Amino acid sequence: MGLFAMTKRALANVITKPATLMYPVKPAKQFERSRGMLVITIEDCIYCGLCSRHCPADAIEVSKQDRTWQVDRLRCIICAQCVDACPKSCLDIVPEYEKSVAQPPFVDFYQGPPAPPKPEKKPKEE
Ligand code: SF4
Ligand code: SF4
Repeated sequence: MGLFAMTKRALANVITKPATLMYPVKPAKQFERSRGMLVITIEDCIYCGLCSRHCPADAIEVSKQDRTWQVDRLRCIICAQCVDACPKSCLDIVPEYEKSVAQPPFVDFYQGPPAPPKPEKKPKEE
């Protein structure tokens, strides 16, 4: 590129808008079917572990005993296999993006509400 062309380009860049996007200062444009991030409604989860077993990225861990569910955001590839596998429809992919992080933890951890008390067994009739 010659000096004239370079100067012309530099001047044009000074007076025109930046070509780059202003994200995250201005939120990125989102579309209805954008694959942003995986979310869970933990209150509806039954800790069956099907989401974890269907995940090709090994990103989900479920503990029925502790009533916990967690996803490693760095492993998740937003494929929605877990969403399709969930029998309670408590997983969803929303068109929003998780904020970027430079430090751990990269895992989103959810603790479900305590299990409802089991109904008392009726005494056997003699
Ligand atoms: S969206 Fe795909 S990669 Fe992410 S947790 Fe679900 S199954 Fe795994
Ligand atoms: S498949 Fe659904 S109900 Fe089962 S553990 Fe995963 S999120 Fe919970």
